[in-house]
Amino acid sequence: MEKFILYNTATRQKEELKTIKKGLVGMYCCGPTVYSSPHIGNMYAYIVWDSLVRSLEYLGYEVHQVINITDVGHLVNDSDDGEDKMEKGSRKDNISAWDLAKKYEKEFVDNLELLNIKKPWKMPRATEHIAEQIELIKLIEKNGFSYQTSDGIYFDTAKFVGYGDFAKLDIEKIKEGARVEVNNEKKNPTDFALWKFSPKNEKRQMEWESPWGIGFPGWHIECTAMSTKYLGNPFDIHTGGEDHISIHHTNEIAQGHGAFGKQTANYWMHNAFITFNGEKISKSSGGLYTVFDLKEMGYDPLAYRYMVLSSHYRKGMSFSMETLKAATVALNKLREFSVGDTGKMIPEYLNEFQRLVANDLAMPEVMALIWKMIADKNYSTNDIRFTLLDFDRVLGFGLGVKIKEEIPKEIEKLAKLRFEAKAQKNWAESDRLRDEIKEKGYIIEDQPEGYKLKKYL
Ligand code: AMP
Ligand code: ZN
Repeated sequence: MEKFILYNTATRQKEELKTIKKGLVGMYCCGPTVYSSPHIGNMYAYIVWDSLVRSLEYLGYEVHQVINITDVGHLVNDSDDGEDKMEKGSRKDNISAWDLAKKYEKEFVDNLELLNIKKPWKMPRATEHIAEQIELIKLIEKNGFSYQTSDGIYFDTAKFVGYGDFAKLDIEKIKEGARVEVNNEKKNPTDFALWKFSPKNEKRQMEWESPWGIGFPGWHIECTAMSTKYLGNPFDIHTGGEDHISIHHTNEIAQGHGAFGKQTANYWMHNAFITFNGEKISKSSGGLYTVFDLKEMGYDPLAYRYMVLSSHYRKGMSFSMETLKAATVALNKLREFSVGDTGKMIPEYLNEFQRLVANDLAMPEVMALIWKMIADKNYSTNDIRFTLLDFDRVLGFGLGVKIKEEIPKEIEKLAKLRFEAKAQKNWAESDRLRDEIKEKGYIIEDQPEGYKLKKYL
């Protein structure tokens, strides 16, 4: 089996993957909080981890990928106070918190399909694992890593000596900066809630009985509970966005030490962020676009997938319509090329492809390799096509299928407006509309009696 190299945040080094069970990789990816529509930033993360799953499978591993569904409300602030995201979302959408979770979980699954992301092995919901979370908190309590305040059970981070190591936190500096800390019952500013009590005189939509009182689990405990339940303890790879390094994963590691005296995962991998105008795209600030938005504007969700894979996952990328348009053109070219008779595998390219995917997901180099192969005159088109289709098991662009020329409604509408403008001899408007149509990836060809729309390749 090919040596698989990955960058482990825990050691800040590239390491060779050594799986716990031969040929099997257990992978836990922090999943979406289902209180609003997943945006393209969230889906960036799942495209990246899908490419990891596909690469491992391509190289012969069996992969058990778990993506959890966070349907219990986290509090808006990392400091365990502020409003509950699910309760807030429930008021905004005017439906119950439970229906809200169902609605956005479905949207997430629809997104996975649109982006050709393989369905995970398991997608456990936090609300269906409350008992496991309580058991874990009991264990942490028994081992002396927790304490109670008037509003919940907290993890005492001072009891875990290596607390700041994973994220290289400067604990002294955090302490100095924490004088304005809201919750002054906390022993240390980095302590975090394992269980929160429901406020007195207030019935929450989501709350459960526990040995400590009615309430709901803290932000981090679900991931430690569900990852170890489904993947064993320890398991192989834990992934998430780089925003999770300093708080969520640091706290998961603390919980692992508190409960079991060890880290729960052997490798921790993090994706960088996709930004827009230099700013992080985030759900709490309203997000930017959703995949549905892109579709509505006439873009193929797989062009977004192409765009994401063109940049390395630890580098992140800057979103722009120009890049998405370029990805659309490139993907369409690949599609055109991939339909037809096939020949046999080209070993030279296969070897290089395997080396690249196994080198910490060197996807930008993989893309360059593909274009080099397509232009390579030393091989027959049929052999190149065969090899490309095989690589698509990792790329997930759905190549080899003749795509029906489906013209989005919005483009049809613009074309109609242009036809009318032309009929009225409004040339400026007709030219403007033609340019807008072209910008969206389509060409309008005038015909003796009307016009024809074509995808721009
Ligand atoms: P959330 O639903 O907010 O819990 O986020 C789900 C996942 O999306 C997390 O792993 C985040 O780190 C990731 N994520 C959120 N925003 C972005 C972004 N702009 N770029 C890349 N990943 C992101
Ligand atoms: Zn998590």
